Parts: sequence; C-alpha cells; structure tokens
Amino acid sequence: MMSKRVLITGGAGFLGSHLSDRLIERGNTVINTDNLYTGDLRNLKHLMDHPRFTFIEHDVCDPLDLEVDEIFNLACPASPVHYQAKPLFTLKTSFIGAMNMLELAKKNNAKIFQASTSEVYGDPEVHPQKEDYWGHVNPIGIRACYDEGKRSAETLFFEYHRLEGVEIKVVRIFNTYGPRMHPADGRVVSNFILQALKGEGLTLYGDGEQTRSFCYVDDLIEGFLRLMDSPSEVTGPINIGNPNEFTIKELAEHVVSLTGSSSTLTYLPLPSDDPKRRKPDITKAKEVLDWEPKILLEEGLQKTIAYFRELLESESA
Ligand code: NAD
Ligand code: UDP
Repeated sequence: MMSKRVLITGGAGFLGSHLSDRLIERGNTVINTDNLYTGDLRNLKHLMDHPRFTFIEHDVCDPLDLEVDEIFNLACPASPVHYQAKPLFTLKTSFIGAMNMLELAKKNNAKIFQASTSEVYGDPEVHPQKEDYWGHVNPIGIRACYDEGKRSAETLFFEYHRLEGVEIKVVRIFNTYGPRMHPADGRVVSNFILQALKGEGLTLYGDGEQTRSFCYVDDLIEGFLRLMDSPSEVTGPINIGNPNEFTIKELAEHVVSLTGSSSTLTYLPLPSDDPKRRKPDITKAKEVLDWEPKILLEEGLQKTIAYFRELLESESA
C-alpha cells in the first residue's frame, strides 16, 4: 500500500515537530511546511534526511498546490507574546491560512485537521469548559487577533464541511508544554524553567492565583492522532488537554523545587484579558476517542527541565 501523504502547516514549531515524529513512525510520508516565524529548523534536524520527510518553507497565507491525503493545519503563532507582536499577521494566518488549506483539502478530497484552542472560550464564565460553551471573548482586546482569528477559522471549517462536504477534525487544545518549546517562546512553562535554571526570578504576572491545566505534549499528540483516525462523522470541536488545574504560583513552586533552584518569585502586572481560570472538560474525548492524558505534571516537567538543561549546556559549551 502507498504511504499516506500528510501535510503539516506550522510544522517547525513545538507541536508540529512532535507530530512529524509520530507520523514518520507510523509510516506516513510527511510534507512539513512553515514560514519559520516562531518555528525552528533545529526541531526537525533529525528528520531532514529521512526519505519520507520533506520540508518546504511556505507561508500558509499563500495558496499551495500539492497532492495530499491528510492535512494538519497548525500554522499560527501560539504564544501571546508572539501573536500580539504581529496581530494582523495572526489574524491573516488564522483566517486566510485556514481558507487556503480548506481549498487544498477540497481539491484533494483530503481530511483536514484544525488546531483550534481553549482561547475560543475567552475568559470563561463557565468552569470547567465544555465544547458546547460559546465563550466569553473580548472582540477588541489585545488577545482578540488570536481568539477571534481561531474562532473565525472554526467557522470556516464548519462552512466548508456543510457546503462542500470537506471532512474536518477540529481540536481545541488546552495549554500544552514539553521539549522543543522555543526558548524565546514566552509561554509560562518555558519561561519559568529557563528562569529557574539560570537562577533568575520567576516572573509571575498578577498575583499568580489564575489557573491553567497543563498537558504534556506526548499525551496531546496521541489525542490528535485518535481524532484524525476517528470515523468521518466525528468533526469536533473536541477538547484535548489535561484537566488537572494548578495556579500559576503553584506551577512556579513546582518548577523551583524540581530544578533545585535558588530563584525567587517576581511579581509583574497582569496583561489585559488574561483568563482567570481554565480547565478542560474532557468527557467527550474520553467517550468518543477513548483518550485521556497519562502524564502527570511532575513527570512532564522533569522531562522538559532535562531538555532545557541540555540546551543551556550545549549553548554554553
Ligand atoms: P509554535 O509557535 O511553536 O508553532 C507554530 C508554528 O506555526 C511555528 O513554527 C510558526 O513559524 C508557524 N507559523 C506561524 N504563522 C505561519 C504562517 N503564516 N505560515 C506558515 N507557518 C506559520 O506553537 P505550537 O505550540 O506548536 O502551536 C501549534 C498550533 O497549536 C498553533 O496553531 C496554536 O494556535 C495551536 N495551539 C497550541 C497550544 C499549546 O499550548 N501549545 C494551545 C492551543 C492551541
Ligand atoms: N504567565 C506568567 N509568567 C510568565 C508567562 C505567563 O505568570 O512568564 C501567566 C500568564 O499571565 C497566564 C498564564 O501564565 O496567566 C499562562 O500564560 P501563557 O502565556 O503560557 O498561556 P495562555 O494560557 O495565557 O495563552
């Protein structure tokens, strides 16, 4: 049988590189595209000579014509620091990028997966968040380029499904962490680990009492594959994330203790519209995909700390 041809957009980023590894392991042919805004080719170095792997530098806002069986649309800056640095680019990437990939899916009769986000729930008034909650998003705030961009991408996906019969798989990803997050990514787990390893103060925004629920990358990618392999009537949206909820202060304390660091906590102003609480309800993922996360925060943090420790050592050598 011919190897399935799978396109990943945003493939040089954190999640795209892990997904590439799993697809290559499964025997697929992977076409990995990225414009390298927040992605890094070092994440793909080990795959570059693989006969079933190709990398193409490409901006998802430009149309693409390829023969593919499946598409994973991951292209989009994910960290608030980077999506807010280029808000119009973020909006365009979310909407025009999704549309280009949906056109490609339509042309190829290919199945297409969209990396949506818990940010579609905004600063939620319902807790934990279930897929049928419509969210609480400020449409003109500094997070809107990402939140509304991703919401409009979901709309596009469901219209292409209803109007054109495109087979869609929409996942709402909750905070995920692990090796290969970019050191300058700016999200909380990589920030805290690097600060702890360098003996710098851990930067807590606000009072640190806001919560997040952190999923280790391997668990998330397993959820991606189960969704992509699910029967065609399963369109999502479906939450994938770890329901164990922690305050940001608790996360900081875990990181300090696991790294054995002498770092202290530094309090900085809370950015506007920062969600106060976030925790996925994963009942649907359990029922429909027989999926639930297996890796506890402590274990995932240890693996991520080991990755960043090695990175810092190799940079200083
Ligand atoms: P990341 O920043 O490491 O990866 C995103 C990748 O997309 C980068 O390689 C970047 O260069 C690329 N990209 C951005 N704009 C592009 C464009 N116009 N054309 C081509 N490539 C472009 O972030 P990640 O954590 O790997 O996130 C991957 C996807 O998952 C994103 O769509 C993000 O919104 C979504 N997501 C991630 C999380 C998480 O916690 N990691 C949570 C919710 C949603
Ligand atoms: N945060 C923090 N210090 C940092 C980075 C982030 O206290 O150095 C907080 C941020 O304000 C938010 C939470 O940690 O409340 C998660 O932030 P992140 O950027 O990782 O993802 P978000 O869930 O906000 O998209």
